[in-house]
Amino acid sequence: MRPGLLALPPLLASHLTPGVVVLVLLALAAGYVLLALARPTRRCPRCNGQRVMVTRWRARYRPCRRCSATGRAPRRLAPVIHRTYWLVKHERNHR
Ligand SMILES: [Zn+2]
Repeated sequence: MRPGLLALPPLLASHLTPGVVVLVLLALAAGYVLLALARPTRRCPRCNGQRVMVTRWRARYRPCRRCSATGRAPRRLAPVIHRTYWLVKHERNHR
């Protein structure tokens, strides 16, 4: 048994003040925004990026409807983030 593993949970709990939690959440949000800006799409969860789906009742392939057979699906908040980003950029260029 390693002593470090036993000492870790109380150490973490003592550092979990509301301020730290807010900071961590803000950092996660910022990371998500950066990720959405850099990579607005992810692999389609329905067809797993295969672009086709196997139909259940017959062993046949069908183009994936969820991603329109592109294999990529937008991240949940990526359209909103991109709209805001380009809006801000546009506004700045006009001043
Ligand atoms: Zn798909």
